[in-house]
Amino acid sequence: MRLVLVGPPGAGKGTQAQFIAEHVGVPKISTGDIFRANVSEGTELGTLAKQYMDRGALVPDDVTIEMVKARLAEPDVEPGFLLDGFPRTVPQAEVLEDHLRELGTKLDVVLELVVDDDEVIRRLSGRRTCRTCNRIWHVDFDPPAVEGVCDLDGGELYQRDDDKAETVAERLRVYAAETAPLVAHYAGRGVLVGIDAMGPVDDVTQRAVDALRPFQDR
Ligand code: AMP
Ligand code: ZN
Repeated sequence: MRLVLVGPPGAGKGTQAQFIAEHVGVPKISTGDIFRANVSEGTELGTLAKQYMDRGALVPDDVTIEMVKARLAEPDVEPGFLLDGFPRTVPQAEVLEDHLRELGTKLDVVLELVVDDDEVIRRLSGRRTCRTCNRIWHVDFDPPAVEGVCDLDGGELYQRDDDKAETVAERLRVYAAETAPLVAHYAGRGVLVGIDAMGPVDDVTQRAVDALRPFQDR
């Protein structure tokens, strides 16, 4: 199964991507995670990407596309994949479509996580990440026992630079301008399925699994 997750920052894409990929039995490919790994390893790609990420902008398409094509050439994606955070622009979607066609395949389904704007801001502004294990916490919705400390390993919790209020506003603006048009693009191709992504994580995962079932059996 080849699927794409779309939705605004804070829709819970990263969290759901993990569960859905496990459920479907395909690797999760998250461009944000790949960029962040490059930033912490101090690679050339990381240095370049950081300049854009820190201000809530998109990394240029050519850089992102090349990185995704390289990832899609690895053997573990043969049975399928789940893309989280890519494509993020209509040009990226077009390149992906051409690339998959060359490989003799195509996307099966695009799952849209639907949340309202206020919820997105609440989720992002309270999000905290453990420096040690990368577990995501939330100051109100999923707080650790001791403020600022990970329950699992005592690691320090930090706020992603791009989760700070000014940058969140820019990421939402970029989403509306660049990424939201993908929803219509994929609806036009008959592969879009939207689910309500408000409420508890487990409920959303269940809705996602139910929505994907018809596509899994095809
Ligand atoms: P995410 O973890 O998906 O929120 O991505 C974090 C940041 O990585 C984004 O704000 C962008 O700066 C960059 N990024 C991730 N995916 C893409 C993409 N497909 N195209 C361009 N930039 C991306
Ligand atoms: Zn931790």
